[in-house]
Amino acid sequence: MKAFQIVAPRETSLRDVPVPSPGPSDVLVEVAAAGVCHSDLHLAHARALPYELPLTLGHELAGRVVAVGDAVTDRTVGEQVVVYLCWGCGECRACLGGAENYCLAHHDDSVPGPGMGRHGGMADYAVVPARHAVPLGDLDPVAAAPLADAALTPYHAVDRARPHLGEGSTALVIGVGGLGNLAVQILAATTGARVLAVDTDRSRLELAATHGAHEALVSSEDTAADVAELTAGLGVDVVLDFVGAQATLDLAAAAVTTGGRISISGLAAGRLPLLAGPPPYGLPWGVSVVKPYAGSRADLEAVLDLAHAGAIQVPVEVHALPDAAAVLERLEAGLVQGRAVLVP
Ligand code: NAD
Ligand code: ZN
Repeated sequence: MKAFQIVAPRETSLRDVPVPSPGPSDVLVEVAAAGVCHSDLHLAHARALPYELPLTLGHELAGRVVAVGDAVTDRTVGEQVVVYLCWGCGECRACLGGAENYCLAHHDDSVPGPGMGRHGGMADYAVVPARHAVPLGDLDPVAAAPLADAALTPYHAVDRARPHLGEGSTALVIGVGGLGNLAVQILAATTGARVLAVDTDRSRLELAATHGAHEALVSSEDTAADVAELTAGLGVDVVLDFVGAQATLDLAAAAVTTGGRISISGLAAGRLPLLAGPPPYGLPWGVSVVKPYAGSRADLEAVLDLAHAGAIQVPVEVHALPDAAAVLERLEAGLVQGRAVLVP
């Protein structure tokens, strides 16, 4: 079969590899689609990786179960599934409490998952632990594959900020690409917040406006002033930053209101000024800062419920798996609208 792999740091290749065999507790999934995430770009560009190589990329995958291991009783051949992202140990305090995304067995690293330490979905087939293959019902697996991260991660970020997102509140979403677009949809569908969207790219902002953003701001040096004006000088209750660059963290710090919350999902390696400058020493008083990772299994179930209800929908661009390298370049160049998915 074909698999798009990182073969060495900063080197990817579409390779012929054997179809893998499921172990006793696994299922074999015939991949219908794999989403392409900005995190794949971070991995493909990394000078060093904590993973064994070669590694098949693709942490957002959906498809059909075509074989099950001997010990598997709760998945059947023919079922359409989406794959839960965080393959925690299943035994630690976090996993037993339902937070496999914060598995303590992996506290010094990301929790393993498809395309992240284990072979992923940018291939014809993928082996998946049966307990992480979640039934899709009648959702189209091509459109549903990105729910596994592009919707799960913003759902988790929004859900943890929910106490700040009642009627009359304002949320600022920075970076409305793959994840940020879904954040806008999830805020609109599940909270009372007014949603301000910020991006450097006008077309992403137009798409976000059709998905529920009340205000769309092209980022510039005036954005913080624009946010202040739109909030009567108060600032926003919640900032969801899906970029994490210096410019966006500076905006987050300038835009958040007293007692508000900054949630940083983007991984662009900026620094948030927590205690910088003269009194009141950086961030407003009472602000909480969180660095959420992916989401829990329950968050994925909630995302699937929203998708089944038609309350969220991933805007997808469909490409063929052999074009994976070109699609990564397209993502890097800022040309992808919504989420790109690769179809074998
Ligand atoms: P994407 O490329 O689809 O979207 C990024 C968006 O940010 C684009 O619309 C881009 O125009 C915009 N942008 C870039 N620089 C900007 C700036 N300075 N100001 C405003 N907007 C700007 O990426 P994605 O797949 O949505 O991923 C977003 C980030 O989230 C990446 O860093 C990714 O690695 C990270 N991520 C984190 C988690 C997690 O669990 N924490 C999970 C998945 C992805
Ligand atoms: Zn664990």
